[in-house]
Amino acid sequence: RKYTVRNAFKGFLPKRSDFETVEEQIPTLQNGEFLIKTEYISVDPYMRSFANGRRTPYDQFGFQVGKVIESKNSEYPTGVYVVSHSGWRDFAVLNGEPDDMFNMKPYQPPIGDLPISISLGALGMPGMTAYLGLLEICKPKRNNIICVTSAAGAVGLLVGQIARLKGCTVIGFTGSDEKVHILKQEYGFHHVFNYKSTTNIRDTLKLIAPSGINCFFDNVGGELSAAIMDCMQENGQVAICGSISNYGDSSSHHIKQKYHYKIEAFSFTQWEWSEQSHALTQLKIWIDKGDIKVKETVTDGFEKLPHAFVGMLKGENVGKAVVKI
Ligand code: NDP
Repeated sequence: RKYTVRNAFKGFLPKRSDFETVEEQIPTLQNGEFLIKTEYISVDPYMRSFANGRRTPYDQFGFQVGKVIESKNSEYPTGVYVVSHSGWRDFAVLNGEPDDMFNMKPYQPPIGDLPISISLGALGMPGMTAYLGLLEICKPKRNNIICVTSAAGAVGLLVGQIARLKGCTVIGFTGSDEKVHILKQEYGFHHVFNYKSTTNIRDTLKLIAPSGINCFFDNVGGELSAAIMDCMQENGQVAICGSISNYGDSSSHHIKQKYHYKIEAFSFTQWEWSEQSHALTQLKIWIDKGDIKVKETVTDGFEKLPHAFVGMLKGENVGKAVVKI
């Protein structure tokens, strides 16, 4: 089974009827190929951002992890787990070549005894994004004040915890009072605000950080980001990770024309595999020691993929949103 998109999405949230499932015969393996039985599929914001006005091939789109159940490729023997960008499908035939979108080769996730789903979250693409984006772009120093948006999400939850480990004061923005509570009580964020009900973000931030924010890791764009950017310190650093608030339209960031801080957009793909895997190794050490807590929101069933995708876009997830197949 695989998903295809019947209609280009209208508005931010796709409808169930925009997707359809199709069944196809699993082909006989050729030399160099291997067959994966999918165990978890990731639902990610970038999948929405690429879908504006076109019928995106979700059957070739999206990270997943599964077990090799048949192989004609000695690099990927039967029985190993493999992470690949092979889409919303419950079986995939691969040949070990890098995928078209991210240029990533399928790889065996370095997760030790941890549950396999973690390879799509804290020890996967969101993990390397949080680690490299924060430490290589923001470069926070001890006692810095850092701000992160979508703070309870897959990337944000890690950014906040890594920044706390580095001795920073962490300010998070999230979309519900329940998530505000969770971030403060369970994940050690110092200040957390519900961006939907905080009436004056600029005044709120100026009370906490009268001399300004040193680092801003932005996951959402739009008005919230513009308000936070107004509170940056001279020579502060902004890392633009994502812009989910405008993935459903073509509007751009409302960034002031003249800003007094550094701003850099990045993609996790700009780092080599050696740096990405170093990030995963360090994250695993922190997770094993209990310095970083991991959270997933798991939805059960292949047929629930569109539901889980929309749920993530609506903010129903805490930590990484994945679907168990
Ligand atoms: P999340 O787990 O954070 O899930 C998305 C979250 O976005 C929701 O839970 C919701 O939480 C929030 N959200 C939805 N709409 C809005 C809105 N209008 N304003 C503010 N928040 C909103 O996803 P990820 O951690 O996977 O991704 C976070 C960001 O990082 C995305 O922008 C994504 O595209 C980007 N990204 C970038 C990468 C890179 O290489 N640069 C790699 C991976 C991700 P809430 O309840 O808080 O509203």
